[in-house]
Amino acid sequence: MATKRSSSRRQFLKTTAAASVGAATLGSAPRVVGARSHGLPQQADGPLVISSRNGMNAVERAMEVIKSGADALDAVVAGVNLVEEDPNDTSVGYGGLPNADGVVQLDAAVIHGPTGRAGSVACIEGIKYPSKVAKLVLERTDHVNLVGKGAQEFAIMHGFPVENLLTERARLAWVRWRENLSNRDEYLPPHEADDPSIGADYEPQHRTWGTIHCSAIDLAGNISSVTTTSGLAFKIPGRVGDSPIIGAGLYCDNEVGAAGSTGRGEANLENCASFLIVERMRAGDSPEQACLYACERIADHTRKAYLLNERGEPDFNVQFYALNKAGEVGGAQIRGENGQFAACNSEGSFLVDLAYLYK
Ligand code: ASP
Repeated sequence: MATKRSSSRRQFLKTTAAASVGAATLGSAPRVVGARSHGLPQQADGPLVISSRNGMNAVERAMEVIKSGADALDAVVAGVNLVEEDPNDTSVGYGGLPNADGVVQLDAAVIHGPTGRAGSVACIEGIKYPSKVAKLVLERTDHVNLVGKGAQEFAIMHGFPVENLLTERARLAWVRWRENLSNRDEYLPPHEADDPSIGADYEPQHRTWGTIHCSAIDLAGNISSVTTTSGLAFKIPGRVGDSPIIGAGLYCDNEVGAAGSTGRGEANLENCASFLIVERMRAGDSPEQACLYACERIADHTRKAYLLNERGEPDFNVQFYALNKAGEVGGAQIRGENGQFAACNSEGSFLVDLAYLYK
């Protein structure tokens, strides 16, 4: 599905080279202790797929689909479907950890670079493949977001069965969580943002996160993205994370590149982080620089006392993954030196190190 407006990668490379001269100072990130170079062989004109660390099978499947001549959007959705149906991945689709009431509510979104269209579902229940429903929202409605019951009814209209997504493993994890709840959970009384007594036992770093994001460039050079998740484990029913929100949990511009995220969704929602990354790449940042920039932005904007450690650093994590039109990939996270993400080009699949702000 090449479009007339799709510029060549060579053209993008020229633009990037020119822009990066001016961007050298903008890209500096004083907190960075761990910018990493990655080992992915660069293939300026080949197809490319990236995903979060849990998507090694997904990037391989997406690459197979791309090699058969399919559009990048079909490829990334086919890739993440493997994770959505996997009962052992407790962060996505079937087997995902439920909300505080023990109900699995899923979020997903897609963006199609060549046509600039997007679709998403949030808080959808009983539907195993929310990414497929998000794609149908893109293709078969004039809307972008459908939530809750409306999203489920739309899926039923298109022939999706309603299934029980709560596996025994996820149910038992929920029961354990509920039985060990602290008396200071995330239902907060009125308070000032810097009140240290609020959320003293909240410990955001101990919450269970997980999601799959996948972006790809197909044989025609077109880019698309998907993010799908069961969201924050044991969330307040009705909570919508960043994954189904265009610009937060994912963003894609066919002329520039794509970005996606996992981790504390609230930080992305407050900072439009995936959109920010794509705009930084447009201005000349490499994917890794742009991802680090988004980590910096989140760190600068985190003011709630219960989200900061004793050094004033965010005490939670967010990971970003990005690729650009030139076929470069990169990623970063706020905390930790051992983060990785999955990538695949026509040579094979690779794990790529994430840069980081804080050890
Ligand atoms: N970002 C997702 C959310 O906040 C969760 C995750 O990636 O772990 O819903």
